[in-house]
Amino acid sequence: MSCDFLALAAPGVRGLHPYQPGKPIEELERELGIRDIVKLASNENPLGAGPLAREAASRALAAGLQWYPDGNGFTLKQKIAARHGLEMDRITLGNGSNDVLELLARAFLTPEHESVFSAHAFAVYPIVTQAIGARAVVTPALDWGHDLEAMAAAITPATRLVFIANPNNPTGTWLGADALERFVAGVPEQVIVVVDEAYTEYLEGGESAADWVGRYPNLVVTRTFSKAYGLAGLRVGYALSHPKVADLLNRVRQPFNVNSVALAAAAAALDDREHIARSVALNRDGMAWLEGEFRRLGLAWIPSKGNFISVDTDRPAGPLFEALLREGVIVRPVGGYGMPNHLRVTIGLPEENRRFIRALEKVLGS
Ligand code: PMP
Repeated sequence: MSCDFLALAAPGVRGLHPYQPGKPIEELERELGIRDIVKLASNENPLGAGPLAREAASRALAAGLQWYPDGNGFTLKQKIAARHGLEMDRITLGNGSNDVLELLARAFLTPEHESVFSAHAFAVYPIVTQAIGARAVVTPALDWGHDLEAMAAAITPATRLVFIANPNNPTGTWLGADALERFVAGVPEQVIVVVDEAYTEYLEGGESAADWVGRYPNLVVTRTFSKAYGLAGLRVGYALSHPKVADLLNRVRQPFNVNSVALAAAAAALDDREHIARSVALNRDGMAWLEGEFRRLGLAWIPSKGNFISVDTDRPAGPLFEALLREGVIVRPVGGYGMPNHLRVTIGLPEENRRFIRALEKVLGS
């Protein structure tokens, strides 16, 4: 039987492309006959999870996997609330912050509505918008970053969500607190501004829109344990919002969306300030070293406040990505983000950064 499932799919889903995270490393190693592939493709923490999170995860495993997790994530929410000086009813937990982004779309968008985000913004914003059948309005970038004036001008009575990642992925660009708060303050109150702070720990200045959540009912701030906390494999993130917004997000949230090992590890990770400090320092040094190497190689790059950097290879980056792969180094081509000549590389351990530069030099020269 041949059934046209595409025709049966919800209209918004028909035009979507799946998010492509790439093949498992073991599979690539088999295919390429290489043993020690370096993966600098998904902005993970090269130090991994910290010791407190690892111990807590082991304890949670030992406690038995037959039990459902705490569906309200009480302990983790309590810690998050204390960290931000906010009430627990302002917190929504997600299976990664992607889950929270999807909850926002499901709670606020319909096919009559629009979400606004910038060119070169994170790939999940169009996915969650279009899956609902809502319209994605993409504003032009300014120096690779967000043009807040263009974004404000794109807001219409149909706009329900505005997504702003700060710092942004894949550009690494960032907005100062003053400009961003002015934008939030000027947005009509029926428009929810989602400030996605997946990389905020690397900003170092400590500026965060989380500090304004009590001030603007239409502000939602999302955070993740996948980046500086090194827990990407466990999938846990959260949103801070007005309690009424959190109530709506929790209505569409799957019961038990965050597993018991993730809940325990994330709660412990919040206490491990040393690990965050170590991770941020490693990132700072690696970033400075890579910038120096790009300068030496005559390559331009976009200054970044994330744990990654996008370098302009001055030629189509797809073939370079393939050539780097054959050298055993996985980076991320970002042509799908409207950046066909850029490669995004995660800041790794010093030896991983050196492997990347050696391989880049070789494939650029060949
Ligand atoms: N927001 C941004 C800007 C990201 O780059 C990422 C991860 N690539 C996420 C959100 C989602 O991360 P997670 O679902 O692992 O929390």
